[in-house]
Amino acid sequence: MEFNYTENQRMIADMIRDFGAKNIKPKMMEWDESQEFPVEVFKKLGELGLMGVLVPTEYGGSGFGYLEYVTAIAELSKIDGSIGLSMAAHNSLCTGHILQFGNEAQKKQYLPKLATAEWIGAWGLTEPNTGSDAGNMRTVAVQDGDYYVINGAKNFITHGKTGNVAVVIVRTGEVGDSHGMTAFIIEKGTPGFSAGRKEDKLGMRASETTELIFEDCRVHKDQILGQVGEGFIQAMKVLDGGRISIAALSLGIAQGAFEAALAYSQERQQFNKSISSFQGIAFKLADMATEIEAAALLTYQAADMKNRGLNVNKESAMAKLYASEVSVRVANEGVQIFGGYGFTKDYPAEKYYRDAKLCTIGEGTSEIQKLVISRAILK
Ligand SMILES: Cc1cc2nc3c(=O)[nH]c(=O)nc-3n(C[C@H](O)[C@H](O)[C@H](O)COP(=O)(O)OP(=O)(O)OC[C@H]3O[C@@H](n4cnc5c(N)ncnc54)[C@H](O)[C@@H]3O)c2cc1C
Repeated sequence: MEFNYTENQRMIADMIRDFGAKNIKPKMMEWDESQEFPVEVFKKLGELGLMGVLVPTEYGGSGFGYLEYVTAIAELSKIDGSIGLSMAAHNSLCTGHILQFGNEAQKKQYLPKLATAEWIGAWGLTEPNTGSDAGNMRTVAVQDGDYYVINGAKNFITHGKTGNVAVVIVRTGEVGDSHGMTAFIIEKGTPGFSAGRKEDKLGMRASETTELIFEDCRVHKDQILGQVGEGFIQAMKVLDGGRISIAALSLGIAQGAFEAALAYSQERQQFNKSISSFQGIAFKLADMATEIEAAALLTYQAADMKNRGLNVNKESAMAKLYASEVSVRVANEGVQIFGGYGFTKDYPAEKYYRDAKLCTIGEGTSEIQKLVISRAILK
């Protein structure tokens, strides 16, 4: 495994730092305050090739692999976790599902629009009563000739309102049957398909999270991804890759929180010395830096394995579990190092702290990652 950035990774990191300084940093606290999802920024990131990182060039994407993908999400999340989360959901979930399981016609129809962010993608698995236990979902599709009629609701869906297209996994068989669910591609504007309530969130406030509602929504069978009954199995495979992107999101937030705390600890004077000269603060920084390195190694290991076509079920869960918990710990210590100022919106520490928490929840909680890892090592 190569530990240094490749030329492409360096280029992506420099490009995002430059873009973020001009287009994200000046406005991000406003978006956070008002919970505005900055669509224009998302589209500009699409013009830079960041909304189809893994999509082959023949479908309008950048044609990169997971190492570049991790670098891009981590660099973006170092600046603003909300935009990092939106980028991860768009690339890994909606676009990733169509890329992995779409037929040629579906790939040609949707990937060029998604890869350039002309269209924004959403992905719906979670329901109000079934999150970790997604296989117990109640949203149902009933066949009616060449169409399926969908009724029910999904919640916590990233880009549920702004998204132009959603991949949605719904029940087509019996409750409790892992082969009883099917994935559909549903375009915005399809009668009976609408966005519901927008969540008012603790963090990641500039990433839009809403309900999706289905009321006798008729979808043609050509919109099915793969075969009827494969939806849940497909979703688990999509999440294996997606978890690498949430590990990268966690890593970026941790790195951002650490860099801010490191700089502040060298500027802030107490007892006529910089606070970094106190061992109590220096050891915190040492722990933060060490844990970030370990999280980076797990994340890049999973990315490298994914690039080589290996099964990353256990490794992506380990990377996501560890990096997300590190992110929360580092962001927490970041606030502590800033003292009272860390509790205010004048400094970035509080935003990292709020944003980091989502990483231990989205795309499977820490407890669910432990379930995945323990199943893999006990089999
Ligand atoms: C900002 C945000 C964006 C999201 N984006 C999307 C999206 O785009 N698409 C999508 O489909 N979903 C999305 N989600 C949903 C997310 O994946 C779920 O919230 C998550 O999987 C947890 O489900 P839940 O919230 O229903 O919690 P629950 O499943 O109710 O869990 C509650 C608690 O019980 C624990 N628990 C549950 N089962 C077990 C078990 N077997 N063993 C031990 N502990 C257990 C959990 O770990 C957790 O601590 C998003 C969520 C958020 C907050």
